[in-house]
Amino acid sequence: DGGRIEVICGCMYSGKTEELIRRMRQVRIARQSYRIFTPRMDTRYAEGQVASHSGSRLEAITVATMREILAHAQDAHVVAIDELHLFDDDPAEMVRGCQWLADRGARVIVAGLDLNYRAEPFPAMMHLLALAEQVDKLYAICVKCGAYATRSQRLIDGKPAPANAPTIVVGGLDMYEARCRACYEPAV
Ligand code: ADP
Ligand code: MG
Repeated sequence: DGGRIEVICGCMYSGKTEELIRRMRQVRIARQSYRIFTPRMDTRYAEGQVASHSGSRLEAITVATMREILAHAQDAHVVAIDELHLFDDDPAEMVRGCQWLADRGARVIVAGLDLNYRAEPFPAMMHLLALAEQVDKLYAICVKCGAYATRSQRLIDGKPAPANAPTIVVGGLDMYEARCRACYEPAV
């Protein structure tokens, strides 16, 4: 019992990883068993860590698939997965795995982008948002106008990336800007 799914979503720099780390620090204080997973695809930081843009860090297990997550999760009370959209080569498998863990009584906390750089939903996140007991959508600050940002603008040489670019390209401030709906420039 007590199984549930919590989704933390929003655009890049909205504080998803910070929020995940904050919740997991509380889990640690509560002395509950937990595992934190981070995708092997996320090469921005050291292996075996989740790290936020503001510099907070927590130990994590670096994995590539839901199968690996399930193998490591065992009977942990809390299972956290950061950057869930990076596991999107098999969205249905991610959704099934999260459901299975929650059905068995785990508190599952996932964080990830709700939208890709074309402002289209990531399939696994889209499904988990509908299935979750708790959803928190966070906002960054639009670098153009200072409003709340909901979009991740991918730039190549300062111009919006074309619509036919690969959906997943891991990068930071050099490649992505947080923008509001009005300042976001759609990929063409
Ligand atoms: P996410 O996981 O959602 O990408 P992080 O938790 O890693 O976000 O980082 C959030 C931090 O990013 C903020 O606390 C702030 O220090 C920094 N940051 C950089 N650019 C922005 C921006 N445009 N709006 C808000 N925060 C930003
Ligand atoms: Mg993050």
